[in-house]
Amino acid sequence: MYDYNKIIDSVYKQTKHIKSGKKAHYIPELAKVSSSIFAISICDVNGNLYHKGDYTSKVAIESISKLFSLSLAVKKHGVDTVFKKIGMHGSFLPFNSIIAAKLAPSHTINPFLNQGAMATTSLLYQKNNKAFKKSILDNMNDFASKRLSVGKDIYESESETNSINMSLAYLLKNNKRFYAPVIPTVDTYTYQCSVKVTSDDLARMASVFANGGVNPKTNKELLTKKQTEYILNNLLPEGLYEYSDEWIVKTGGDAYAKSGVGGGILIVIPGVCGIGIVSPRLDKHGNSKRGVSAGIKLARKLSKKLFKKKSNKTRKRYNSKKNKTRRKK
Ligand code: GLN
Repeated sequence: MYDYNKIIDSVYKQTKHIKSGKKAHYIPELAKVSSSIFAISICDVNGNLYHKGDYTSKVAIESISKLFSLSLAVKKHGVDTVFKKIGMHGSFLPFNSIIAAKLAPSHTINPFLNQGAMATTSLLYQKNNKAFKKSILDNMNDFASKRLSVGKDIYESESETNSINMSLAYLLKNNKRFYAPVIPTVDTYTYQCSVKVTSDDLARMASVFANGGVNPKTNKELLTKKQTEYILNNLLPEGLYEYSDEWIVKTGGDAYAKSGVGGGILIVIPGVCGIGIVSPRLDKHGNSKRGVSAGIKLARKLSKKLFKKKSNKTRKRYNSKKNKTRRKK
């Protein structure tokens, strides 16, 4: 059993000083959020919540919402169909790169790149626009165990500056890799990105994946284990975009992370806990700079896969046993 308060405290102290990075400016409303927000929350697989810092401050969920539209898509169509229609390859290019979308061979795009994510949302299309949006928000509410709200200003700001996403969607549509009308789908994708969340919300949402698809707070099965694994595995190549492989090397591959340009990061440590971090200044790939740094430290402390540092006592005991056996020989 981990002392989560102690772990959060120590990582918070170690990373609090990090002030580098820049807020996202390409969506004007995102630049207005306070740079100083810093919050870490953990929700364990029993549904217990621990937190420190500005855990009541809300930011736009942005690309972290891609996790939940993918969840709904695998629930609706099954893992095999989603794999065939979307794909899984990362691009080594920015998350909204037109070149990456143009060059990607058919049906290979990772659902966490913008083009793959919008195609995923197109798999959820409903003719009635209100019902389409509602189904996506209801699903996110199920993960958060509460009613989330949409930031109207963010939604409007993103809708006005959506040209690249529209281009990506039309490009895919032209190649028969977009499965619904472009305009209402991109609109709904923008809507899902504008949902406001706190670090507590992100930790709760992450805890469902950590618990194999069952929400530990409500006991509702939101995904099967197979679906959960599929979603998490897709995070490895693109969860943090071009930073994803460095994240794997630094954390050991047992921590699955998704960032959003609003400054949030959601991290899943399977069988252990979900983590939510909010800190709006971003690195050059669009990941929270302080959030990634704190996330790596937390993942290293909580991952089951990594060799843990032995305490001095254990090490001494071990060494003295070794010496005794050596002496006997
Ligand atoms: N809504 C943003 C976009 O489509 C999300 C990007 C992100 O968070 N990386 O560009």
